[in-house]
Amino acid sequence: MHMMEKLIIMALEAGFDAAGALDCSTIILRPEAREACENNRCGRYGKSWSCPPGCGSLDDCAALVRRYAKGLIVQTVGKLEDEFDGEGMMAAAHRHAQSFRRFSKELRMDYPGMLPLGTESCSNCDPCSYPDAPCLDPLGASSPMEAFGMMVSDICQANGMEYYRGKGTITFTGCFLLE
Ligand code: SF4
Repeated sequence: MHMMEKLIIMALEAGFDAAGALDCSTIILRPEAREACENNRCGRYGKSWSCPPGCGSLDDCAALVRRYAKGLIVQTVGKLEDEFDGEGMMAAAHRHAQSFRRFSKELRMDYPGMLPLGTESCSNCDPCSYPDAPCLDPLGASSPMEAFGMMVSDICQANGMEYYRGKGTITFTGCFLLE
């Protein structure tokens, strides 16, 4: 079996609902995505090593991303009763975060230099050691894709993954840059 097929099966077994190959040459890093971080709607700007400015400048992130050619996109799809179904959204977000942590540990064994990029600011430690001390778990930490300037819709579209699965659904997307 081809390595990418194996990785996709592993991702589904780890709990994701969809997974597909990521061609890292399709990744475009956009300043607009970082501007959304600076608006700080999530409250994590300047609070974590995983988010701007702690995760480095857009140029720093680009230099890191350019080291990779192949990766994997992973998704969790939640079903919602209606557009106000906050519980359904939270449940899907929680399931996505759990699968992401589980799969990240598994992948790290075969790809020790991989770069995991998730959906949310890293929450491995409470509180994050930023900015007083170095990251407490650099191998377990992950930045959100937007913190690296990635527009999730662009990346999905360029790699044949659905970004939006229609009314009554919510899709969470993360990726792993592998080699
Ligand atoms: S692993 Fe801990 S210290 Fe490092 S970014 Fe995540 S929360 Fe912060």
